[in-house]
Amino acid sequence: MREVIAAHGLSASKALGQNFLFDEQLLDRIAAVPGDLDGARVYEVGPGPGGLTRALLRAGAEVSVIERDARCLPALAEIAEAYSGKLHVQEGDALAQPPPCPAPYHIVSNLPYNVGTALLVRWLSGESWPPDWRSCTLMFQKEVADRIVAAPGTGHYGRLSVLAQWRSTAKLAMKVHRSAFTPPPKVMSAVVHLVPTAMPDGVQFAQLERLTAAAFGQRRKMLRQSLKGLPGALDALTASGIDPTRRAETLSVEEFVGLARILSH
Ligand code: SAM
Repeated sequence: MREVIAAHGLSASKALGQNFLFDEQLLDRIAAVPGDLDGARVYEVGPGPGGLTRALLRAGAEVSVIERDARCLPALAEIAEAYSGKLHVQEGDALAQPPPCPAPYHIVSNLPYNVGTALLVRWLSGESWPPDWRSCTLMFQKEVADRIVAAPGTGHYGRLSVLAQWRSTAKLAMKVHRSAFTPPPKVMSAVVHLVPTAMPDGVQFAQLERLTAAAFGQRRKMLRQSLKGLPGALDALTASGIDPTRRAETLSVEEFVGLARILSH
């Protein structure tokens, strides 16, 4: 992979969040996180020069990728040629276009850090559920990964934990040392694995988002204070039997979902 980078003159762009992985063993381990991919369809955002893409193809997947950096396209075209018919490459911004493959598919990506959270929230907020994806295997900064999988009462528990866990199970699959990347980012990374669960009845995502933004926007305050500005929220606390002197970080995901259900009607 280092040779591929050199051959195509690919210097990593900071603006595009480019930190590449070259270690094949590590890439194979990441590609194994979703389980057996033989014959499965995978959507990868930001393949870069294609290290993870190759690992997914080695695992037997048919892979569709969206890459924003046109400089990476020749390297990806070489891989497409080697794996005839198994790799579909699209140039573009993953935030601006829908996944380029038919459902169902697994999402596997070493995400650009600056768009990772936005994409995850989008994938979790689709109106139809179960979603088109069967699992998400995503690299994040370790601190963001900790927030996604955090349990109530812990320091990392917050808006992202509730939004991730209200209708998916989210697990930390592996930690990845910063030195595994070229160039190494300043912080450690981790791979998160999410699998959709049943959607709770009668809950609108927008309500859950508003509720968690208000509650965790002032996480040290009591709910009666932090939710004061959200119409109907204090009544919803009473109706749910939730003590308004509690703080946001003590509420379970189910309690947030229960409140959002009341606010959705
Ligand atoms: N998958 C490669 C690897 O593991 O070595 C590269 C990972 S690098 C962290 C992120 C990649 O996402 C870069 O190749 C970057 O050009 C691409 N990228 C950044 N923003 C993007 C966007 N909005 N849509 C699609 N790709 C994007």
